[in-house]
Parts: sequence; structure tokens; C-alpha cells
Amino acid sequence: MTAVLPRDLLGRPLRDLRLSVIEACNFRCPYCMPADQIGDDYGLDAASRLSFDEIETLVRGFVQLGVRKLRLTGGEPLLRKRLPELVRRLAVIDGLEDLALTTNGSLLAAHAQSLRDAGLRRITVSLDTLDPVLFRELSGGRGELASVLAGIAAAKAAGFTPIKLNCVLQRGVNDDGIVDLAAYAREHGHVLRFIEYMDVGTCNGWSRERVVPSIEVRDRIHARWPLQPLDPNYRGEVASRHAFVDGAGEVGFVSSVSAPFCGDCHRARVSADGQLYTCLFAGAGHALRPLLAQGENALASYVEGLWEQRADRYSETRRIGAGSEAGASRRHVEMFLVGG
Ligand code: SAM
Ligand code: SF4
Ligand code: SF4
Repeated sequence: MTAVLPRDLLGRPLRDLRLSVIEACNFRCPYCMPADQIGDDYGLDAASRLSFDEIETLVRGFVQLGVRKLRLTGGEPLLRKRLPELVRRLAVIDGLEDLALTTNGSLLAAHAQSLRDAGLRRITVSLDTLDPVLFRELSGGRGELASVLAGIAAAKAAGFTPIKLNCVLQRGVNDDGIVDLAAYAREHGHVLRFIEYMDVGTCNGWSRERVVPSIEVRDRIHARWPLQPLDPNYRGEVASRHAFVDGAGEVGFVSSVSAPFCGDCHRARVSADGQLYTCLFAGAGHALRPLLAQGENALASYVEGLWEQRADRYSETRRIGAGSEAGASRRHVEMFLVGG
């Protein structure tokens, strides 16, 4: 183990790793992977993906540097073959305290129990609307609401409680469903989190007018079911949490556009082909694959050097340039490569 854990140039430790296990996805959500720009065969080259051996070495190396939370993502992670076997290998890594997965839920009904049995602790399912017609549209004409709801129910039955639900709001698209989604989450005991639509990647045609600021969402829910702010579970938690005063659980708001949180960003991202991104908006990654062949110690010392050079704070600089959208136009990695 490295004796002193690295800090970046802004004093931020490395605590949290998001690892994409596959670039491919069976949805084409317009805000992430628009169907007119990303072909159906995108990301199907299995040889480009890190193997399970490489992933295990990588995670062990990151744990040496202080990572305690690992989230598996994609693309759509449930498209990765033998995912429960990978989970089983990662769940036993000494020092890793939390192992979670983010999924679109479409294949979850078939896999929830085996993932639970393999040692997965937490599941987040993306759910932008409860309207079946709009749902299909928002999945790029690929998804069915019913199968996602069945996946969420299967995850609950398998013991994943509470389940987190991620909703990305777009003004004029799905923002009239806020109260319905909150009602569904309350009824089933899920933790709903509203995420501001972000200018990630280069192909979603983001515009600030489409963003629904969290404060507006909070006010709309509060008018129906009064809310009270909760303390963060830990420093650097990205969602600001609020409890329903009537005791029916909680709701969270991720305000990356209206209230950036770069100062507490302890997160690294690795794409399925082993590129490290030190920010969700990084223009380029660092290839880790060559290091993996040399083992976890070599990987850890290479990443340590990179982390100590990190100065990313894109969301804060975007806010500073708000009038002109300065900073919002430069090239940055696609969301489906780094998984949120
Ligand atoms: N396919 C899985 C899913 O959809 O949950 C995992 C990967 S997906 C890239 C991870 C998260 O990123 C999802 O919750 C999705 O809604 C969110 N996301 C994608 N594009 C986004 C955007 N432009 N702004 C905010 N969140 C976005
Ligand atoms: Fe696929 Fe998830 Fe991106 Fe939608 S948000 S296109 S489900 S990776
Ligand atoms: Fe972290 Fe980059 Fe997002 Fe800021 S913009 S919170 S540094 S990932």
C-alpha cells in the first residue's frame, strides 16, 4: 500500500472510481447517445474491453490509492457477458467498502438476483418518465417502460434496498412528470434523484434552456409533499438530499450545472478500454492498459503521478463563463464512454 494517499493540485483525495465495463448500449437516449449519430453496432468490439483479470488488477491498484467506492457502469453494463462473475471477483477486494452499479434497467429482471448473490451492494436505475410512449422516445425507440419497472421490482425482491432512481430532466420534454415520479418512488420506497441535464460529450446538442434547475424541481415537490434538507452521508456526496416531512423517504438533487461541486470531487473514471479520465468533461484520457500488464503496484504508482497533477474543475469554470457559454463548447469525452 502507498503510505501517503495522493492528493491532486486542489487538495482532493481519490476516493471514488467509476468503471465502465462496456461501451455498447441497447438504448439511444438522445441526451447521451443520439441514434442519428451513434450507429447500432457501436461498441461491439469485445477485444477492446479490459478483461476481468485486467479489471481486477486495476481496481486493486486504485484501492491502494484510497478508492473505497466502486461503481460499475457503461454503456449498458448488463450487456457485459458474465457480469456477476466480475462482481464476485471485485466484491472480495480488501479495502473496497462499496460496490454499486448503474443500469438502464432493461435487462435487470433477469440478472438482479445473480448480481446480489455475487456481492453487489447497491443498484441505481435510470428512469426519466413513467409515460410509456415518452419512455420509448427517450430511449431512442429501443426501450420498454414495463421491462424497466419489472427490473426495478426484481432488484427490490432480490434485496437491493433502497434502490436509487436517476432522472435526467429536460425542460419541455419530461419535466411535467416530476410529481408522478416522486409519487412512484415514495410508494415503492425508492430514492429518487433528479439530475440536471449536462453538457457532457459533443453530440447531444445541449442548451442551457433545456436545463431545469434543481431548486425549481425541489420547489415543485415541496409544494406537494413538504421537504426538509438532510445532512450529506459523507463529504463529497454529489446529491443534495431532502427528506419528505411525512416520513415517506427522501429525494436528491444533483445540480452539476446550477451549483457545481468540483471542490469536493474525489472521483476518477475509467472507460471500458482502460482510459483514465480525471474529469467527466476531460478532453482526453490516459491509457492504463500498458500498466496493467505490470501489475497493481505499477498501475498505482502511474495513477498516483497523474492524480497529483490533476486540476480539473470544469463545472465551476462553465458557471463562471455562463453568459457566453465559455467552456461549454470545447471537446470532451462522451458520457457513454465514462458512464456518468
Ligand atoms: N446505461 C446506464 C444507465 O443509463 O443508467 C449507465 C450509463 S449512463 C451514461 C449513466 C447515467 O448518466 C444515467 O443515469 C444517465 O441518465 C446519465 N446521463 C447520460 N447523459 C446525461 C446528460 N447529458 N446529463 C445528465 N445525465 C446524463
Ligand atoms: Fe445508454 Fe445509459 Fe446512455 Fe441511455 S444514458 S444511451 S441507457 S448509456
Ligand atoms: Fe468533478 Fe469534473 Fe464534474 Fe467538477 S466537472 S465535479 S472536477 S467531474
